[in-house]
Amino acid sequence: MTDFDFDLFVIGAGSGGVRASRIAASHGARVAVAEEFRVGGTCVIRGCVPKKLLVYASHFAHELQDTANYGWTIGEATFDWAKLRDFVASDVDRLERAYTSTLDSNKVEHFHERATVAGPNTVRLASGREVTARVILIAVGAWPVLPEIDGVEHCITSNEVFHLPELPKRIVIQGAGYIALEFAGVFNALGSHVTVVNRSDKILRSYDHDLTDRLLPILQARGIEFAFNRPIGRVEKQADGSLLVHAGEGEPIPADVVLVATGRKPKTDGLGLEGVGITLGHNGEIPVDEYGQTACPSIYAVGDVTDRVQLTPVAIREGHAFADTVFGNMPRSTAYDCIPSAVFTQPPIASVGLTEQQARAVHGHVKVFTSDFRPMMNMFAAKAERGFYKLVVDPASDRVLGVHLLGPDAAEVLQAAAIAVKAGLTKAQFDATVALHPSMAEELVLMR
Ligand code: NDP
Repeated sequence: MTDFDFDLFVIGAGSGGVRASRIAASHGARVAVAEEFRVGGTCVIRGCVPKKLLVYASHFAHELQDTANYGWTIGEATFDWAKLRDFVASDVDRLERAYTSTLDSNKVEHFHERATVAGPNTVRLASGREVTARVILIAVGAWPVLPEIDGVEHCITSNEVFHLPELPKRIVIQGAGYIALEFAGVFNALGSHVTVVNRSDKILRSYDHDLTDRLLPILQARGIEFAFNRPIGRVEKQADGSLLVHAGEGEPIPADVVLVATGRKPKTDGLGLEGVGITLGHNGEIPVDEYGQTACPSIYAVGDVTDRVQLTPVAIREGHAFADTVFGNMPRSTAYDCIPSAVFTQPPIASVGLTEQQARAVHGHVKVFTSDFRPMMNMFAAKAERGFYKLVVDPASDRVLGVHLLGPDAAEVLQAAAIAVKAGLTKAQFDATVALHPSMAEELVLMR
């Protein structure tokens, strides 16, 4: 027994915080968690999960158009945004209950209020109550960055987009990263007129350029408009309630909804970290060592609040490794190489390992193998869209350094390929694998 109220106090019940709580409790720790909003965090409540459901919903719009050559005659299809929105919301409620019951079944005490750090071993709850713990874990995540522009109050972020009262006829999306392009695909498919406005002429900057160069014309052909090299200026509300987006040079763009998706920032404002000797990084992030320990030895941090890789599975790994290290006597850290990721555009892209550009910077010379193909399902549906797969190989070791995919189900195909890249397999080993025919994934072992 210790003199503290708890062995571990977790601030934030998102992906990283819930995993850390559960695993620490399974190691015998007395755990409490505070959450000011809803149990589940960004991924479950207003991120990956509801987004993916909207992506699935929007797939039907395209698939309905592709059915004729497959023998189907579909009558007039109608779409009901409110119905979809409410079904998605009820699924989020279900998941929140599941996360809450995970905490309960592991005997993790939860407080539904904001908590801040009042000392190296003390947390202050919004109610004013102070609670002590041997270890404090900060897992409060990140928050959308809003530009400092006139009329920003008329814009929404990905936090609000799931609750729109109606499907916008015209939506302007600021940014051309993950969130911007995923929602551009959703609203385009569901029938909105979508304009993506970005300060540069690059989309999805961190992805291999061969992929993004092919993705852009596909999105344009699907009807998404792009206004490049136009930094957002101001958003003006019109007398009829509609909006006018002034963005750099060029005509203002009319909209019913303006969605800002220009990155996310660690949610550290007002957490009290400076008072315990933690100096935040330039983006507001908490600096940590490989085990998540901060400059204050009793305080750790995991997930988006550390601004390393803003992905749910990474936060979960970090939370798990923290709990094993601190409460399970099994020091573990998270490896950041070969993290697979996908952007659920339509079609999606997915990637693991080094892009060609990164590989050249590290290895000098690299070998590149590509397959530019028309997926069978598109061919039969008389759809022009092509898929593109790319392998980046180190010529010295023959090791596959990166796999980059554009095409239907790219994320599903990539997860298995990521095992091969993580395991350090060679191009010869890819080639030695018999193709699974007919599939798109077989392209992975047929590139010569
Ligand atoms: P991203 O970093 O992906 O993209 C930000 C976009 O905003 C870029 O197009 C960038 O332009 C532009 N931008 C950045 N700063 C400014 C600024 N000051 N003024 C104008 N434009 C600006 O951020 P997101 O918000 O889309 O997503 C945040 C994070 O969430 C992602 O990095 C990702 O880790 C995670 N996420 C992951 C998903 C997934 O795994 N499928 C889905 C959604 C989010 P430019 O590049 O031209 O500089």
